[in-house]
Amino acid sequence: MASLSKHRVRTKQCNRPLTTPACGASVPAMPDPIRDTIFALSSGRPPAAIAVVRISGPRAGHALKVLAGRLPEPRKAALARVRDPASGEAIDEALALWFPGPNSETGEDIAELQLHGGRAVIAAVLGALGRIEGLRPAEAGEFTRRAFESGRLDLTAVEGLADLVGAETEAQRRQAYRQLKGLLGKRAETWRARMIEALGLVEARIDFSDEADVPEDLIASALKIVQGLRDEIAEALAGAVRGERLRDGLVVAIAGPPNAGKSTLLNRIARREAAIVSPIPGTTRDVIEVHLDLDGYPVTLLDTAGIRDSDDPVEQEGVRRARQRASEADLVLWVYDAKGGPAPNEAAPLAGSVTKWMVRNKVDLLASEKRDGLKQSNEFGSSNIIFNLSATTGLGLADFLVQLGEYAKSYFGAESSLLTRERHRKALNLAQSALDRVLAEGPSGREDIIAEELRLAAQSLGRLTGQVDVEDILDVIFRDFCIGK
Ligand code: GDP
Repeated sequence: MASLSKHRVRTKQCNRPLTTPACGASVPAMPDPIRDTIFALSSGRPPAAIAVVRISGPRAGHALKVLAGRLPEPRKAALARVRDPASGEAIDEALALWFPGPNSETGEDIAELQLHGGRAVIAAVLGALGRIEGLRPAEAGEFTRRAFESGRLDLTAVEGLADLVGAETEAQRRQAYRQLKGLLGKRAETWRARMIEALGLVEARIDFSDEADVPEDLIASALKIVQGLRDEIAEALAGAVRGERLRDGLVVAIAGPPNAGKSTLLNRIARREAAIVSPIPGTTRDVIEVHLDLDGYPVTLLDTAGIRDSDDPVEQEGVRRARQRASEADLVLWVYDAKGGPAPNEAAPLAGSVTKWMVRNKVDLLASEKRDGLKQSNEFGSSNIIFNLSATTGLGLADFLVQLGEYAKSYFGAESSLLTRERHRKALNLAQSALDRVLAEGPSGREDIIAEELRLAAQSLGRLTGQVDVEDILDVIFRDFCIGK
């Protein structure tokens, strides 16, 4: 069976050997976020050629002077001998950088040391920093949280940053980078500004309704703005699913009867033909997961347990899980033995909306004239698609992977999506519904209702970028960050 189960379990790439808590741990309320000066190892797991230690907060400059003897010129790298302040002993020779606030990543004073990346060097420097009054180790995501709190990043950019660090393929990287640079955040702010402009018109109408010289068409002007906004938001929502898909990847399940060659096929694809990102033994005993980068698109390949009737309760459980995963997949490759005749009926239990491709495997075992006579239907998108393959010799595999790459490309769509998360979609859905209610009121509708709905719409966009009332979602968003980020 699948040899990939031997591979390492993927963990988030983050540095946590010297500090607690783990990535993904829930982020406690940040103690005293403004006054404390925080520090952390921001580069990857040691040992490494270079280790970057960052310090952010009001005492960052003081800390750098204590360790390196002086403050370098702002934003210019300077060579510095780093000493233990208690003993005066030199720890390492480093590059020191100084970014005075507010023009720094966190908006606070930041000092950075680029040290040699040995464990003892890092431990000595972090230890020395910990002994300076007013300094404490950073919590996971705390640097980014400070950047958000100081207004350097809006929430969608924070999410983009998390996605950029987690991006495994080119398409994911591009989408994350656009988000970090404010693709959605800036658009949402423009929408919000226009909502507030419309609200201003409605409120003027309400405030001065008794006065003779207030123009009648204030509401009509507001409705015109609302109509335009509503259309733009609807358009963004239409592409939302694409952006969310790109974060999650296309899930392809390999299913079929036992011994059809499913594991062999998975191993073959993973080892030879596609850039493998991370082989992961699945959460269950029987589902193996491999992350592939196929032409820049993320594809997760699942090898499921052989689906067949069995009296063995453990195997039954494996089959149940295999069916479940396969039915949730975006594409199922139904693998069966070419010598066993036509595609067996076992595919039937997976019937439903899932797209299925039939893979007739082990064609190398057929006599060559029989092989040539096999029907090969490779029209992309057809539900009857049949591939003739040999997982052991690789026959037919190149063509199959081209088709899979094409499928991934069309699945993710060529255009970039503005929205990448369910959170974005929900916020825009709320705004859109409120705008719909405004339009339903129409030019002779109740002005107080129109105003209230516009406030609601603006508020949900404010929550999207983190401008208003977001305490409840912050921990969820920052949970994905590592220490030092
Ligand atoms: P699974 O139970 O569906 O995962 O099947 P395996 O991948 O474990 O393969 C079952 C047996 O079929 C193994 O002995 C494989 O070496 C063999 N096998 C798999 N694919 C091919 C193929 O394309 N040609 C031949 N001749 N044997 C294959």
